[in-house]
Amino acid sequence: MGKTLDNKLKFQDPFKTLKGEERASVDMGELKTLWFNTGTLCNLECQNCYIESSPKNDRLLYLTKDDVLPYIKEIEENSLPVELIGITGGEPFLNPNIINIIETILRAGHKALVLTNAYKVISRWDKKLLTLNQLFPDKLFLRVSLDHFTKEVHEKERGYNTFLPTLESIGWLISKSFNVSIAGRFLQSESYTEALDGFKSLFKKHEVPLSLSEDNLVLFPEMDSKNLNTPEITTSCWSILGKGPESLMCSSERMVVKPKGQNKTKVQACTLIPYNKEFELGESLSESSKKVFLNHPFCSSFCVLGGSSCSSTY
Ligand code: SF4
Ligand code: SF4
Repeated sequence: MGKTLDNKLKFQDPFKTLKGEERASVDMGELKTLWFNTGTLCNLECQNCYIESSPKNDRLLYLTKDDVLPYIKEIEENSLPVELIGITGGEPFLNPNIINIIETILRAGHKALVLTNAYKVISRWDKKLLTLNQLFPDKLFLRVSLDHFTKEVHEKERGYNTFLPTLESIGWLISKSFNVSIAGRFLQSESYTEALDGFKSLFKKHEVPLSLSEDNLVLFPEMDSKNLNTPEITTSCWSILGKGPESLMCSSERMVVKPKGQNKTKVQACTLIPYNKEFELGESLSESSKKVFLNHPFCSSFCVLGGSSCSSTY
């Protein structure tokens, strides 16, 4: 059997790999981070967007405040130990309800981390964001994607003329005292330290007043989300790799989505697999508190072998 055929046959049976070994799984522990995907539409169309967002992709619809409220209520009623509520997309600031959603989360006493590309659209909400930041200065966090410290690499991924406007937007947010962190990438040819130094020099050159460190610069390794040629993960991988299932996002995080055509919110196992029914765990948080079988190439390439996840560090 050829390699290509092998790859197509992998990740089929939830419980067994193609070789018939027991597939690895992750038990749900305590829910620490709850994500809301506020919709997959995006003003950019990045080459390696794992969720395939674009100005046309509306497979996940815009959430409303009423979609978010039942989950906030469930957290309160069951005293779930949620430490952070994350908001992701697409570009969350395209969603016309975004301020209401953020405000609902903050008023319920949660910390909110909003992932944004900070490219133009965010400025529609400048005044309202300033007000929210004045009211909740210790609870509102923004994480801006600046793909790389060079204009060339950033724009190859994110599109022509996206680099400087994003950098200006970051400068504005910091000058107005928002809690900002940066998400970027380091290339296979670079070390983490080289990338960190590159980002530091960039910010210095453009007078962006943020002192970068490992705490506020999250750097992900270069990944090819379209390459599905990755090994399946079996139960024996944990000891071989010296890694435990509790280190994966699906052991302590969940993501709420509203799939097009269903008009109901659902809870997915993690932020990385937003469309796959097999990773849809129910409609409520209690229903979603179940074991996840690592039956997707991203489980292998991003999480177990790649050392990358949509980290909720803020
Ligand atoms: S900005 Fe983010 S969500 Fe939008 S296309 Fe790029 S990676 Fe995807
Ligand atoms: S992609 Fe990662 S976080 Fe998501 S289900 Fe697979 S292993 Fe878990």
